[in-house]
Amino acid sequence: MLKLIDIDKTYDNKIKALKKLNLQLEIPQLAVIIGPSGCGKTTLMRLIAGLEKCDQGQIIINGKTVNELAPSLRDISFVFQDPSLFAHMNCFHNIAYGNHATMGKDQLRSRVEKIARMLGIANLLDRYPSSLSGGQKQRVAIARAICKPSKLILMDEPFNNLDAQLKQSLIKDIRALQKELNLMILYVTHDRKEAFELADTLIVMDQGEIVQIAKPSAVYHQPINPFVASFFGDMNFFEGYIKNKGLYFADQCIQLSKEYEDGKVTFAIRPEDIVKNGPIKIHDVQRQDRGNYFLFIAKINDQTVMIKDASDDFFDSIAIPIKKLIIWQKNA
Ligand code: ATP
Repeated sequence: MLKLIDIDKTYDNKIKALKKLNLQLEIPQLAVIIGPSGCGKTTLMRLIAGLEKCDQGQIIINGKTVNELAPSLRDISFVFQDPSLFAHMNCFHNIAYGNHATMGKDQLRSRVEKIARMLGIANLLDRYPSSLSGGQKQRVAIARAICKPSKLILMDEPFNNLDAQLKQSLIKDIRALQKELNLMILYVTHDRKEAFELADTLIVMDQGEIVQIAKPSAVYHQPINPFVASFFGDMNFFEGYIKNKGLYFADQCIQLSKEYEDGKVTFAIRPEDIVKNGPIKIHDVQRQDRGNYFLFIAKINDQTVMIKDASDDFFDSIAIPIKKLIIWQKNA
């Protein structure tokens, strides 16, 4: 459905926005591109949409190489932050726009009405954009993108200008529409919560590259590297060393279930995965009330450790469950 091969993009001969980027998405799904500011998310979307040209590489949509095709010929539709509706057309015609040649009048009317019902804007079809709120305008823009029978819908931070409650309800609508209409949506955000709520697949970018493509739970629990680990929430990083399948750390030897290379290693564990009371002594324990949990910050020898727990009871030792350990080694 969407295949990107070795995509390179440099702006003004110096800013390398995308580096040999590869991506393949087949089945209808909601794939979310996420990464820090400036990592190349919008550039990638604009290249797929045809609003920008790549220097190298191939963009394939539904089996066809589209590098040289204009946006309107790419079998895609898109929704960006600015809804960009036609001011002189009512909502019905805004949504139906561009489909008269490919759909009969009755078919188009019933498609517009169905999508408008699903997005809760059926009562707005006769109104003009100037009379709509920001959230209503964005719903019309989404309806227009979905009305076009495109296989691929691109959404780049479409709800950034909306308040949190409205954003939440639109996220639910997008999710429902994707499932009901079996759409392929490629959605950009830098908001981790939004990404986890929406994504079937997370595509994590850093410095012009895709660093991990996986289900949200896998990105959270098996991050590919320390950058991804810390991007998606609090993480403890520790230094230790491995010898004969034993991980030596804080005067303990944790027996590993897999083979790793002997030598120094950085490993990690989420604060909520650490168990209170166990063989590893902690000291200088501080407690913070975070509302729905307590965060304990303590020391193991000279290394800092964070522990999340539902109870506020203090403790002076912990256990690190092997199954929750994340160890980064080339052959791991
Ligand atoms: P954000 O989350 O802040 O929107 P992003 O991940 O979408 O960022 P891009 O907008 O794709 O990142 O930018 C990637 C890199 O390319 C950045 O270094 C940016 O400054 C640069 N860049 C983007 N557009 C242009 C342009 N038109 N001319 C020159 N440099 C650009």
